[in-house]
Amino acid sequence: MITEWNIQSRGHGCEVCSRAFADREAYHTLLCDEKAGFRRSDICAECWRQGHGEGPAPKGFISHWQGVYEANPPPVETIKKETAETLLRKLIGQNDPQHIPAGYILAVMLERKRLLKVKEQFIREGKRVFVYEQPKSGDLFTITDPDLQLDQLEQVQRDVAALLEHGLVLPTAPVEEVLPLEPEESSDSAPEEAGS
Ligand SMILES: [Zn+2]
Repeated sequence: MITEWNIQSRGHGCEVCSRAFADREAYHTLLCDEKAGFRRSDICAECWRQGHGEGPAPKGFISHWQGVYEANPPPVETIKKETAETLLRKLIGQNDPQHIPAGYILAVMLERKRLLKVKEQFIREGKRVFVYEQPKSGDLFTITDPDLQLDQLEQVQRDVAALLEHGLVLPTAPVEEVLPLEPEESSDSAPEEAGS
């Protein structure tokens, strides 16, 4: 099963030569489609010049762009209040398929507010996939379009509004144990259907 959505953080060093990026250093990001999903590779300019970027596109090549490494991006969760971005991160972290429509709506909201930027969009296995970048942290969000119908859209928007207002209930919180129903004595309690 392919990953419908994920977050891939910006690397702190070059994937080829393992050298750590310096603050404000320009780097290249390569996005490739591998069987299990999309993979980003962050590569320094020198390695890029030495043949890791030019020449024939690598297998599964989807996209390439340049970025500038920031050694100290502002922390993501400084505010306690649930924001569209913190909520989206939690939903992806939980990876519960029922929240994919909400995640998609959140990504669209964030893009409208210019808090996420579309880096690439393409069709994979018949579904539209968006690759967003959080410009400050350089994190990549891969989100599959759930192809919502108009009548589903309204419900999902209500779900998103409720999640933003009340937050996401994490499944790690202790859940009240649901007592199993007493097994029914099948002998003489319920009238059995005539089987003959
Ligand atoms: Zn390198």
